[in-house]
Amino acid sequence: MTENRPLSWTGDFHTHSKYSDGRCTIEELVDAALSKGLKNIAITDHGPANIGTGVKKSATYLEIKEEISKLQEKQPRIRILTGAEADIISCQGDIDISDQVVKELDILLVGLHPYVKPKSFTDGVNFVLGNQAAKLFPFFRDKVKNLNTKALVEALYKYPVTAVTHPGLGMPLDLEEIARACVATNTAFEINTGHNYQKKEDIIKVGKSGVGFMVNSDAHFAKTVGCFDPGFALLKDANIPLEQIVNLEINRP
Ligand SMILES: [Zn+2]
Ligand SMILES: [Zn+2]
Repeated sequence: MTENRPLSWTGDFHTHSKYSDGRCTIEELVDAALSKGLKNIAITDHGPANIGTGVKKSATYLEIKEEISKLQEKQPRIRILTGAEADIISCQGDIDISDQVVKELDILLVGLHPYVKPKSFTDGVNFVLGNQAAKLFPFFRDKVKNLNTKALVEALYKYPVTAVTHPGLGMPLDLEEIARACVATNTAFEINTGHNYQKKEDIIKVGKSGVGFMVNSDAHFAKTVGCFDPGFALLKDANIPLEQIVNLEINRP
């Protein structure tokens, strides 16, 4: 990785507003992005199945889109994307946002979250309770890891996903298999500076697939919008070529 090259980021593509569990309005997030000199910001509130933290319903994204389009008119210096961080709600990789609403979004992120309303009773037992059981009983871990990995891979093939959020955070995953599926479906593998939990050894392994990494803040407060440094430091430590960082502004071949 080349040292001392000035870094410029195309945008922060993972942030939360008051529509889910963020603390700020969309306008406050946008102002923060502008003050950091970003050219793009995506507002990606949690899907409606996220217990206690999700948007009220799938159609809430249409209200968000409306608010963003008004704000965009006032604020031409930055592109504001309407997005979502959808939840996986079944072992088959279904998400909690309708296809109709997905079509209206500029960007779709998908992530595994432990506390979601499952699609069916069986998904609840296997997927939601399975992940809780894996924490208590290590012998469940491999089974649950396979289940999580399969569900996420299926979601990547079913939906137009831009990036997988915080892979492996709190829910076991085969990261290399996820990376291969990301490559096959042109999806980015997120480096999440909000949780800052990712390990260099894992990133080295994942990077060998050639997957594109997207560094995002997962900001729930205005002050963390555009926080890229810890993610960049991790990628640099893992010797990931700059060309493999999808939201880094560089001259690509
Ligand atoms: Zn998340
Ligand atoms: Zn998030």
